[in-house]
Amino acid sequence: MYKTKAYSATSATSKLASATIPRREPTDHDVQIEILFCGVCHSDLHQVRNEWKEVMPTIYPCVPGHEIVGRVTRVGRGVTKFKAGDLAAVGCMVDSDHTCPNCKEGLEQFCPNVTLTYNFPDKHETAPVTYGGYSDSIVVNERFVLRVPSNLSLAGAAPLLCAGITTYSPLRHWGVTKGKKVGVVGLGGLGHMGVKFAHALGAHVVVFTTSPGKTEDALRLGADEVVVSRDAAAMQEHASTFDFILDCVSANHDINAYVNLLARDGNLTLVGAPEKPLALSAFGLIMARRSLSGSPIGGIPETQEMLDFCGKHNITADVEIIPIQKVNEAYDRLLKSDVKYRFSIDMASLKSE
Ligand SMILES: [Zn+2]
Ligand SMILES: [Zn+2]
Repeated sequence: MYKTKAYSATSATSKLASATIPRREPTDHDVQIEILFCGVCHSDLHQVRNEWKEVMPTIYPCVPGHEIVGRVTRVGRGVTKFKAGDLAAVGCMVDSDHTCPNCKEGLEQFCPNVTLTYNFPDKHETAPVTYGGYSDSIVVNERFVLRVPSNLSLAGAAPLLCAGITTYSPLRHWGVTKGKKVGVVGLGGLGHMGVKFAHALGAHVVVFTTSPGKTEDALRLGADEVVVSRDAAAMQEHASTFDFILDCVSANHDINAYVNLLARDGNLTLVGAPEKPLALSAFGLIMARRSLSGSPIGGIPETQEMLDFCGKHNITADVEIIPIQKVNEAYDRLLKSDVKYRFSIDMASLKSE
């Protein structure tokens, strides 16, 4: 075991503050990474404040962060994919059982024995739970370490590991390609990535937003059209025309308004998670054989595919870089959606703690 610097919360009501945490020495199949940037995901805030206590109670101290990029410092004897000095990334998962049917298919996100990057039982027993990326370094099984294309800005690449793969995976699963009409609902951390990917995949992209002020930005990010969702007439013009809609809204909203925009056999996938159950009219689905689904992150092979796609198309998240000392302020701003479109923590700032 060795000690490393981190920012952690000691209770649901305490602010994140400087701390020292243990990490394991790399075993034969582990990669040790010096963390350079870590994105701030809304899940970090939920878990730090124990807002998911029903399904995933937070164990304190909690070190969040699952949008990690950095440089390899050491590798175990059995590691073949990485060597010291390589760029590397880690997302929402750090291990799994490697043997179940999901793992065999490269769909580790569905493994019943997956280990999430933070606040999850640590099977190495270095600490009661895993500690995430608001930290100087991390040690991860090589299967869960990804290669980062060298042309990408590292600060902007960090959010690809959660916001990126969460939006890329359903677009690919539902066959978004050139010529398809794709809607993206909500232009936040997830939505802005959805727009970039759908555009790069060649789709005709329509952004739905409640804020007319976001129009210019949506077009800049790659949207072909922007619809203000409160404008019923504008919504009606698009009725029954979409092949696919990616719903990135985590606040409660009327899902039927979007189901009705799907063409025959169209699909709407939820990647935002409203707290309350959604009211859905069955007729909307039945009459045009439409479907509604959800999707979490993506498997490791697809996450690598996404990063390589980003390298090829030079896609990164739009980020505001902050020092770790500003993370509590960033959480308050996140609650007001006051960020374009993701905070990325420059981990060099942790060295002065
Ligand atoms: Zn996340
Ligand atoms: Zn498995």
